Amino acid sequence: MITCRTCAVEYDEPVPDVCPICADERQYVPETGQAWASLDDLRDEGATITVRQRTPILWGLRAPGVGIGQQMLLLRTPQGNLLWDPVGYLDDETVTWIREQGPVLAIAASHPHMFGVQVEWSRALGGAPILVNEADAHWLGRRDGAITLWSDQYDVTAGLTLHQVGGHFPGSAVAHWSGDDGGGVLLAGDTIMVNPDRVTTSFQRSYPNRLPLSGAVVARIAERIKPLRFEQIWSNFDNAITAEADLAVQRSAERHVAWVRGDFDHLT
Ligand SMILES: [Zn+2]
Repeated sequence: MITCRTCAVEYDEPVPDVCPICADERQYVPETGQAWASLDDLRDEGATITVRQRTPILWGLRAPGVGIGQQMLLLRTPQGNLLWDPVGYLDDETVTWIREQGPVLAIAASHPHMFGVQVEWSRALGGAPILVNEADAHWLGRRDGAITLWSDQYDVTAGLTLHQVGGHFPGSAVAHWSGDDGGGVLLAGDTIMVNPDRVTTSFQRSYPNRLPLSGAVVARIAERIKPLRFEQIWSNFDNAITAEADLAVQRSAERHVAWVRGDFDHLT
């Protein structure tokens, strides 16, 4: 097993010449060319994982300098935990810490850029199930018996459901926790990206290459999550809206649709 240095997704060896995920128009191969790293390489270079509690039920874990640098989220429910958007590195200390937080019911990624070393995480956590959306399964660089394919909707446990909403990738997903307190939390990766203003979101086919989605697709995304109540939304870089987030997403979708329709062309 080896990981791509740019996206940190794991691959079985021998590897292709170029990481297919990075060669795709939604990502990029750096100017310096394709490079690979084993977990030992990363460890020898000083890779670490930081853990930061974000809310009473949510922890953010990051491996600075590894791949895209997403924040992996550990969501704790009374029945067990979800590991979301796994980072491309792991160490014994973090595995022990995660085990101490309770059973991992599932490992899931919002989309293939966030697969990280999900098989490695699963094996370290005693074969925890890995949930991969069927529409994006062809992006898997490493197969494993722990992988379960799903589509449309998947109940991880009572109150915790994955929803396929599409857009960025056909299988782009969100995880919805309905919450003991009724508040609700949406883990969205970049299926729905929280903007730096922390009150609006954006929707794109590619974030690094600034490829937009049409108004019809954004309206479809908004429609699919409309039945969900969530006070908070967390995207993949510690960017979050922490109050009335469901309304913020609907307003942001309407804004996107209006801009691409040309309603504001007089302002440009
Ligand atoms: Zn890559």
